[in-house]
Amino acid sequence: MVLPGHLAGGYLAAWAALSFAPAGTFSSNQTAWLLTLGVLASEGPDLDLLLYYFSEKRFFRQSQSAATKPSRRRHSHREYITHAPLFWVLVSVLVSLTGVVINSPFVVWSGIMILVGSWSHLLLDSIEDGVLWFWPWHKKRKALFYPPETTWHGARGGFKYYAYILRHVYPKRLTFYLELIITLVALWVAFHP
Ligand SMILES: [Zn+2]
Repeated sequence: MVLPGHLAGGYLAAWAALSFAPAGTFSSNQTAWLLTLGVLASEGPDLDLLLYYFSEKRFFRQSQSAATKPSRRRHSHREYITHAPLFWVLVSVLVSLTGVVINSPFVVWSGIMILVGSWSHLLLDSIEDGVLWFWPWHKKRKALFYPPETTWHGARGGFKYYAYILRHVYPKRLTFYLELIITLVALWVAFHP
């Protein structure tokens, strides 16, 4: 899944979770901040895109030089810790516990927003992309379906690579249609009168 679907999924997850907050707990301003945090957290796992880009460049530089042994090549940016569900559980528990200690429902719910936002991303990535569900005990990505690997000769993670994926690979995937539906539902929830 790509950016619009993740943002839409994060929005829906944050909106649904906030409906469990007792009425009157937050001002409309605070509710807007919490929703925004949920949406931002839904892109948190993809912070590894940048790391992946640099690691691919390094891999190719090393493989061209006979003197250095190339470092292990990752198959996807989703093999970094930000695509491990446990990582986000730890982050959100830390934030929510801080909220408990300082007696701030807003901070407690900030932790909850981080959890639902990031997990919405990981659940959507689990359909066809794969996520490190059993990290740190098992470091292989798990998905519901495993579409064929994309053939690409050269460094992945750059603009050209993603432009190719978006044009030629992604439109053939089931996730693409799911992404469209989620985005439309989120727009309806956000803007219906
Ligand atoms: Zn992802």
